[in-house]
Amino acid sequence: MISGDFHLTKQIIPGIKVFPFFLIFFLILLPGFQTHNLDASRKIRVVTSVFPLFEFAEAVSGERGEVSLLLPPGAEIHTWQPRPSDIIRLSSADLFVYIGADLEPWLHDLLKSVKNPDIRILEASQGISLIDAEGIVHSENEREHGAHDPHIWLDFKNDQMIVDRIAAVLSEMDPDGSSFFNENASAYKEKLQGLDQKFKDELKDCIHQTIILGGHAAFGYLARSYNLRQISVYGLSPDSRPTPKKLIEVVELAKKYGIKVIFFEIHVSDELARVLAEEARARTLVLNPGANLTKEQLKSEKTFFDIMEENLENLKDGLICK
Ligand SMILES: [Zn+2]
Repeated sequence: MISGDFHLTKQIIPGIKVFPFFLIFFLILLPGFQTHNLDASRKIRVVTSVFPLFEFAEAVSGERGEVSLLLPPGAEIHTWQPRPSDIIRLSSADLFVYIGADLEPWLHDLLKSVKNPDIRILEASQGISLIDAEGIVHSENEREHGAHDPHIWLDFKNDQMIVDRIAAVLSEMDPDGSSFFNENASAYKEKLQGLDQKFKDELKDCIHQTIILGGHAAFGYLARSYNLRQISVYGLSPDSRPTPKKLIEVVELAKKYGIKVIFFEIHVSDELARVLAEEARARTLVLNPGANLTKEQLKSEKTFFDIMEENLENLKDGLICK
């Protein structure tokens, strides 16, 4: 059921004549080979690529899991590069959860270096319909490289699907914990539904519907969910340089619609947003995709919900909502 799962099952080469006692030997060993049974006394080691997945996995696995985040504090997911210590960490992990859809361009090289045939791998974006920078939906078989928006966690309905899939994989790995995982998943999904409803209620009556971003176009899913649109000077990833033409276009647009707020991200320099704001006689506010936390946010134990609520407050301020 879980696609994108690279779990290796050891196979016996067919056609080899074996003595009966060998056969018995294999039959005894086979179950142990085929299912990777976890030692019940230890926790499931989960590693995730981005912060939202870290929080989802932690919420679902509870005390039966030991979850860690691959990204170091403050690192930017699109441009980060794994270190040798990350290979070591994944070599002793039981489950790795990542987004996919080209969010983690380093993933294939990293997994090639990891010598851990028993690791389970869950690609969170599998089965989720992806949109492109313009918000157009792409079905799974027309996924073109780099053409789609990988920030799927900014749609809280997608998050509920991901939470369910994490619970399903954990249940397969630790069947005794199955009802515990499912209960945790239900409780967490209820919170996500509440968050979705709050965004819906509080963003339904705003003077502006356009989010102007001095950062990259990470908010396509959020914009789609609440009938907004995003305009970014970058593309889907912050490593491209915006053209002067695009900058002028965005400033003109802000002036035309009387938009007084330019949003910027924490992990990408706000310099550009400040220049835009100055040109458009606007101010800047943070809009955080939440892929990672800064050191300060980690210290103050910020949750995914805290970050999204801060986004909502700033959106209400910037878009002038009732
Ligand atoms: Zn991004």
